[in-house]
Amino acid sequence: MAYATLRYQMRGQAKYWGKPTTCTIVCRHGKWYASITVNVLEPALKPEILPVGAIGIDLGCTSALSITDGENHHQIDAPQFLRNAEHKIKKASKDKRRKRAPNRNKKIKAARRFKKAQSKISKLTRKVGNQRHNWVHQVAAEIISGNSFVATETLVVKNMTGKAKRGKRKKQKAGLNKSILDVGFGMLRASIKYKVEQIGGVFIEVPTRQVKPSQTCPQCGHQHKKTLDIRVHECGVCGYVQDRDIAAAEVMLYWAKGILPGLGTNRANAPLR
Ligand SMILES: [Zn+2]
Repeated sequence: MAYATLRYQMRGQAKYWGKPTTCTIVCRHGKWYASITVNVLEPALKPEILPVGAIGIDLGCTSALSITDGENHHQIDAPQFLRNAEHKIKKASKDKRRKRAPNRNKKIKAARRFKKAQSKISKLTRKVGNQRHNWVHQVAAEIISGNSFVATETLVVKNMTGKAKRGKRKKQKAGLNKSILDVGFGMLRASIKYKVEQIGGVFIEVPTRQVKPSQTCPQCGHQHKKTLDIRVHECGVCGYVQDRDIAAAEVMLYWAKGILPGLGTNRANAPLR
């Protein structure tokens, strides 16, 4: 066995230095990666002044994120590539299925075109993975730059039931088949939570089943069932009109702050808890 010493430049920089404990070297899609785990001695540095903003975030499908601080709202969409990725990968996979696949039992070798199609899929998958990663960190960093109080819905874990009975492989498959955007949302939520808590802020998970953000009026607390196709919140009691997802983000923010009015009262005379 031959050994070689390589001196290689690291991309980016370690945020906190410590004692390196493990080093894993892997080859993925023809590229080499080294992952070094560092035992951090010092806890993460907190900023001297905590950003003062408090926001509610609704993670949805129409707009990826609907963000409000109670007065100003904005929405962030998932990048076009992420939205198209599912389709592109499916198309490439379909393409691959038309080529001659290898079969060990029948001693059939993979067609050159099969290998080519396979490499296309893995390139695409890696590209999506990288882009999703970048987007998640960019959005999370932006949120943390101005806010240290974030309220969002409790994570609903789908895909855990249903197919679980049919054995381990089925379960793994169900996990793999999760939409690229869904995975992005999960990562985004986790990333925001991590970053908020890292700076010493507060990340509040709103129990959606109990609070019902999309069915509640943020101004008066009146609950009214809306089907998914209704994109605008229009309160029949106080007349408040707002985009459905922004209204849901407002409900979550007010609930987290303890100022969500109860049934029949309006926000101005609601007791501050
Ligand atoms: Zn209302």
